[in-house]
Amino acid sequence: MVTAEPTRGRRSAWLPPGPCEGPYPSDMAREPQEDAALRARAAALSTHYLGGHARPNSVRWVDTMQGRWGSCTPSAGTIRLSRRLQSMPGHVRDYVLLHELTHLLVPGHGPNFWTLLGSYPHVERARRYLDAVTAAAAAPGSVERSEAEVATGG
Ligand SMILES: [Zn+2]
Repeated sequence: MVTAEPTRGRRSAWLPPGPCEGPYPSDMAREPQEDAALRARAAALSTHYLGGHARPNSVRWVDTMQGRWGSCTPSAGTIRLSRRLQSMPGHVRDYVLLHELTHLLVPGHGPNFWTLLGSYPHVERARRYLDAVTAAAAAPGSVERSEAEVATGG
């Protein structure tokens, strides 16, 4: 139980700055609509950072991802993002989405991959955020690292 909260009559005025927030619906309408919003975001990111070359057939949120933030099946053109990202900052969501979009063009994590992804200005920041979340959540030995996609450091 964490008890280190300031209780000086100051209600938590902690609000993250907004500039990086993507155009996601703030009222979680957990329906196809949210997948439609995600697909629209994917298209926008592809256009902006990948010259529109990444064109997924399907982009959707999923609940079942353990230890991974996103996955991509290039042969099928499908991208899935963990719902856990919905509560994270916009630049983090965008990074994971763009990461998977980049995999539609470059399968592995070689130099070409990072060069392509390097046009996104928040790569390092987003990776640090995800690493921190992963580290905080990782009980010793409980993380499956076999295919830890975006969570992989290095
Ligand atoms: Zn990857």
